Formats: sequence, C-alpha cells, structure tokens
Amino acid sequence: MCGIVGIFNHTEASKLAYLCLYALQHRGQESTGMVTSDGQKLHTFTSMGLVNDCFHEEELKKLKGDHAIGHVRYSTSGTSELKNCQPFVVNFAGGSLAVAHNGNLTNACQLRKKLESEGAIFQSTMDTEVIMHLIAKSNKKELVDKIIDACSQVLGAYSLVFLAKDQLIVVRDSKGFRPLVIGKLGGSYIVASETCALDLVDATFRCEVEPGEVMVIDSHGMRSLKPFQQAAKKAPCIFEYIYFARPDSHIFGRDVYEMRKGFGRQLAREHPVGADLVIPVPDSGVPAAIGYAEQTGISFQMGLIRNHYVGRTFIEPEQSIRHFGVKIKLNPVRELLQGKKVIVVDDSIVRGTTCMKIVKMLREKGGAKEVHMRISSPPIAWPCFYGIDTPRREELIAAHKSVEEIRKFITADSLGYLSFEGLRWFKTLYSGEEFCDACFTGNYTVDLPDTPEIAAMAKRHCTSG
Ligand code: AMP
Repeated sequence: MCGIVGIFNHTEASKLAYLCLYALQHRGQESTGMVTSDGQKLHTFTSMGLVNDCFHEEELKKLKGDHAIGHVRYSTSGTSELKNCQPFVVNFAGGSLAVAHNGNLTNACQLRKKLESEGAIFQSTMDTEVIMHLIAKSNKKELVDKIIDACSQVLGAYSLVFLAKDQLIVVRDSKGFRPLVIGKLGGSYIVASETCALDLVDATFRCEVEPGEVMVIDSHGMRSLKPFQQAAKKAPCIFEYIYFARPDSHIFGRDVYEMRKGFGRQLAREHPVGADLVIPVPDSGVPAAIGYAEQTGISFQMGLIRNHYVGRTFIEPEQSIRHFGVKIKLNPVRELLQGKKVIVVDDSIVRGTTCMKIVKMLREKGGAKEVHMRISSPPIAWPCFYGIDTPRREELIAAHKSVEEIRKFITADSLGYLSFEGLRWFKTLYSGEEFCDACFTGNYTVDLPDTPEIAAMAKRHCTSG
C-alpha cells in the first residue's frame, strides 16, 4: 500500500510532485517523501505523517530542480519509522540514485541475507533497499541496464520510479500487480500510481506502464524497453478495483468506479432481499451500493454519515462509550433508518469487527428493524504478499468461519458476499484479463516470501490443497 509519483522536466517539479502525492494520499498515510534533481545533485526530504502536514512552502523551495519523485507509504515490509521512509537514496559508483517503490518483494529476505554475507551494510529494513544493492553491484555499464539487471533478480510486486540526476526510469513487474500510469503536461512527463494524480495537475493520460515494461525518460523524450520475459499470465491486483484505488481513477484499462458499480449490480443479482433502503458504508462502499440500488430499484440513501476529519490520534474514553472507534468515524441518520429494513453495502470484510460495530450501531442508534449486510467482494481468506496490508491469516475472519458463522458474529439478519464466480465472470467480461485474486483463493501467482512464518503458512495451504 503505497503511492508513487515522478515528474520530469517541469520548473515547479516539487510542487507538482506534492500535488500528485496529495491525490494519492489514500494509498498511504504513514510517511511521505520527495527527492528532486537540479541536474547536478539530488535533494531529499522525508517525514512521518500526511502529505499536507509534512510539506510546507519552505520544504518545497529547498527541493530544487526540474525533476522529482515522491512516495506516500503504508508499510507492508519494514517497520514504520523515519529510516524506512521513501524515496530511498544511495550514492554509489554510478552516481546518486533515488527510488520510490509500490509493492512487496517476495524474495527480499533471501537476497538480503546473501548480500549481507558478502559484506553489504543495510540502512533500513525495507525490501526496496535490496534492489539498490543489486544495482550498485551490477557490472552493466548503463544505469538502465543495471536497473534491469537488479529487477531480473527480484520476485514479487514492484512498480518503481527511479531518479538519477538527469533521468527518470520507471519499471513495472512482469505480472503488473500494482498500477502505474504516465501522463504529459506540455513538455513534462508525469508518472503516478493512479490517474487521479494526473487529473489534479491537468496532465493528459498517455499510457499505463505495461507489465514488464521499463520506460526511460530523459532529455531525448521517453522510450520503452521490454527486457523481461513476458509472464505467461498477468496478475494485476483485483483488490485495487474492489477497495484500494480511488474510484475516479482509470487503471488496468478500466474505470474503477464502473467496476465497483458493476460488482454492486452483480451482488444484487446474487443476493436480492426485500428492503426499504440501500445504504453504503462510506466511502469505500458507495459505488457498489449505487450499483446494488440501480439493479434492484430500491432507494439509495446515505444512512451513515462519515466524519472526514478523523485524525490518526484521538483521546478515547476508557469506559462507557461503546463501539467508539467506529462511532468517531460513522454516525447513522435515525430519521432515515427508524423502523426500516436496510441493506448495507461495503466492499470487504477483513477481521469483521468494523462490520459488527456498524450493524449494531444501525440497530441500536439508527433504529433499523432489519440489517442485511452485502459485501461486494468474495470472503478474504488469505493474506496478501504483494503489497496490500492484510492481517495474518489467523486474523482474517473468513479464514476460519463460514458465511453463516460470520453473519452470526456481525449480528446481521442476512449476509451475502459477491461470489467468486461472479467476480471472475465480471472481470473477464470487462477486461478479458486474469487478475491476482490470491486474497480470496489462496492461489499465489509468484513465489511466496521466504520468511519461516510464511513458509509454514504456505505449507499449510499446500497440504490443505
Ligand atoms: P474489518 O473490521 O477488519 O472487517 O474491516 C473492514 C473494513 O476495512 C471495510 O470497510 C473495508 O473497506 C476496509 N478495508 C479493507 N481492506 C483494507 C485494508 N487493507 N486496509 C484498511 N482497511 C481496509
């Protein structure tokens, strides 16, 4: 869960990168950072916190130059602390180089151990640093060839943007797990995880970086290289469509909003129920709830109102206020819900605790007579190793409870998940492509991470078929 951006050839590169990061804030809220190049040297700023809290006019002025890369982080590998903030910068024989990474490498531990045994000293606990060591060690001549050499040794998910003093190099892994798009703004190039960042700076969408593609952007323009063997099957992450990407983005060849609405329509076909209202869990459930309501003709209402200003820290009373964590974020509209049969649509259930609190709140505070929960994705039963922050398998409610047991746990009158077949039919219908859906199926498309804990889990998976 991270967002990355790159700007090439703009007199206000740091300001544009800041705006793009701002548009990608939903992809990571833990830390943010930027590196710029003035053609001679790189300038760096990283900090813990949100984009708007970290960057002020003063910092942006110090980030000199016409080229920039930036990163917002939600850690899936490495701990949450300043030394693990990105972009990550190194100085090696080939000069100064910065990188911003979205995704998770699955053989980073193994490569790191090998590099350490050969004398490498690591500054962070991030998997991304492994790539930088491999680049520094490569005996290829050109920087782009060193990067290709390094990337051919790593496994897993990576959308990367590198900044050298006069070059931007962009790489997407051959499965294409995470999105990466390129736009143009006059004579400048804008690279971003999602198109919503291009929209904010008025850039025109040019293309998605294809799985396995490397783009070199420099004073000669942009050129595409396809150095990696084409993967037999691509595996863009279906969860980007379900939850993660912003609904106004266009990624993997489709509009996220349309996909989510389609999931909602399909959900309604699979799990109809007589009710007075369809309400979303805002914001993530909104497009699917609209689809559900359109399909059934049942009135769509905002029965839960979200407070958009909930910060990271708040003082929680130790006693007396129930479901506090959810209550601070969501409040039911009693006038709408009182005595009504309500269908509530959300995009996913992870641990089940939010869902249970919402159902209770709708009944106890909203006065709903019946609460029918509808989820616009299949049950999440497997952790993600390719960059989405999901808990350990034991904590995923669908890993050890049936749908009926989950219904009881969340205390809903009924519970319906989008079927796996429904999702599969839908995604092939709309894009003709295969996706990574390991979080639902446990079918991991590339090697699992090489830690003992994961190895044990993978073994359990293999033996359970
Ligand atoms: P839970 O209480 O753990 O079942 O959380 C379910 C809620 O978390 C749903 O409203 C989802 O929109 C949201 N959600 C799903 N995946 C993630 C994720 N990786 N990080 C944060 N929230 C998520």
